[in-house]
Amino acid sequence: MKKVLAFDIDQTLNVAKTPITDEIADLLTKCLDHFEICPISGQKFDQFLIQIVNRLPNPTPKQLSHLHLFVAQGTQYYRYNGSDWEQVYNYPLTDEQVAKITTSLEQAAKELNLWEEDKLKPGDEIIENRLSQVTFSALGQKADTEAKYAWDPDHKKREKIVKRAKELAPEFDYEIGGTTSINAMTPGMNKVFGMNHLLEELKVNKEDILYFGDMTQPGGNDYPVVQMGIDTITVRNHEDTAYALRGILGIL
Ligand SMILES: [Mg+2]
Repeated sequence: MKKVLAFDIDQTLNVAKTPITDEIADLLTKCLDHFEICPISGQKFDQFLIQIVNRLPNPTPKQLSHLHLFVAQGTQYYRYNGSDWEQVYNYPLTDEQVAKITTSLEQAAKELNLWEEDKLKPGDEIIENRLSQVTFSALGQKADTEAKYAWDPDHKKREKIVKRAKELAPEFDYEIGGTTSINAMTPGMNKVFGMNHLLEELKVNKEDILYFGDMTQPGGNDYPVVQMGIDTITVRNHEDTAYALRGILGIL
């Protein structure tokens, strides 16, 4: 039997950038009694709390000890020490790397007329430094979900931006994720990095893991996990994930 259930977050556990539903929260809490649960996503630590941890219905410290947060694609790892979340490791980008990625993404988007600064909500930003990676969100972090879904459903806009950014700063990797996002990082700092550290930290083998993701196609931010040979379930949305989790809990 699998020991670890690992999850992409956006579009796998939730509607992109929103807290998980009551149903997913309930299913995850139940899974904590049977599995190590590992969300892994490009997002920041505080979003893991807002979107997942704070939504769990009265989890016990024992249940939380089985929850492992692989932040910023697993370049940061947090675990629960009985009273609080502690950072176990962190592999940040240098300031120079952040600056170079930021410049290349901005220039690429501007050249392609895809720099949508006028659509940002007050205080929002298109490019965000997430310490271990830099994330481009075409309409900002705070854009309405509907607008985000409509912006690039076939990934074509982001593929163009990635192609140009890769010409401008070829030393970095660029991945399409979420609905309007591109994540950029140093090569290898993708979900493979996170999953390899997960194997090490949890002392498990690849065969012990079942991974859920919505971007498992080549070029998607879940694809590196597929390439590693980890068993993967491709979902369209959190409803598919809930369906699968009900099935898993049903046969325990
Ligand atoms: Mg996703």
